Amino acid sequence: MKGVRGMFFAKLKFISTITTVKQGLVLPTIISSDIKNEENGRAPLSFEEIEKSVSDSVEFEEKCPPGGSDAVILYTTSLRGIRKTFEDCNTIRFLLGSFGVSYDERDVSMHMEFREELWRTLGGRVIPPRLFIKGRHIGGVEEVVGLHEQGKLKDLLNGIPKSPTVGPCKGCGGIRFRVCFLCNGSRRVVSEKEADSDRDTDTDTLSSTSCVECNENGLVKCQVCF
Ligand SMILES: [Zn+2]
Ligand SMILES: [Zn+2]
Repeated sequence: MKGVRGMFFAKLKFISTITTVKQGLVLPTIISSDIKNEENGRAPLSFEEIEKSVSDSVEFEEKCPPGGSDAVILYTTSLRGIRKTFEDCNTIRFLLGSFGVSYDERDVSMHMEFREELWRTLGGRVIPPRLFIKGRHIGGVEEVVGLHEQGKLKDLLNGIPKSPTVGPCKGCGGIRFRVCFLCNGSRRVVSEKEADSDRDTDTDTLSSTSCVECNENGLVKCQVCF
């Protein structure tokens, strides 16, 4: 009996090793198809041509987040609660980085306004990552990786300016937010109220109000890069 169980666990271990190896293979595959794509010097396809060639069901809906009509906007989350979501965000970041295009990353866990604008744009409570290119909704990680594997992501990114080669913003280190200078991120501002005149006391009453400068996380937008 023991022997059988031992074998079962050994098998389990073996399977999980395979899965890990498989995951490890994803990125090199992406890179190699990227190189292939560089080699054939054909003209980039339009949104419509790509829609037609991918499948009948694919459609890049004209859904434009604020400021996204001529840009690449990627909604992400840096919450690690759901591992897959976190990794999916990294995958799209990696792909966009490999093309060297500049994109606007909007981390919904940093700023509730980003989450609300994403939900408004798509008309539902969607989970990041979500990629938008030139005012069209491209999709989540599956759609983006799928398009890339077909060599079509590159076409969609045609005309998007290259990202500057300088390092991350000196103001915020690339996070795009800074801790609020008014409340130090506590969300509360302590103010001194004048003590009641009829009460003979030296101690002023301290009261705290919520900070008006920062967002729900006690963060303000970086003034250097925002
Ligand atoms: Zn504040
Ligand atoms: Zn900055």
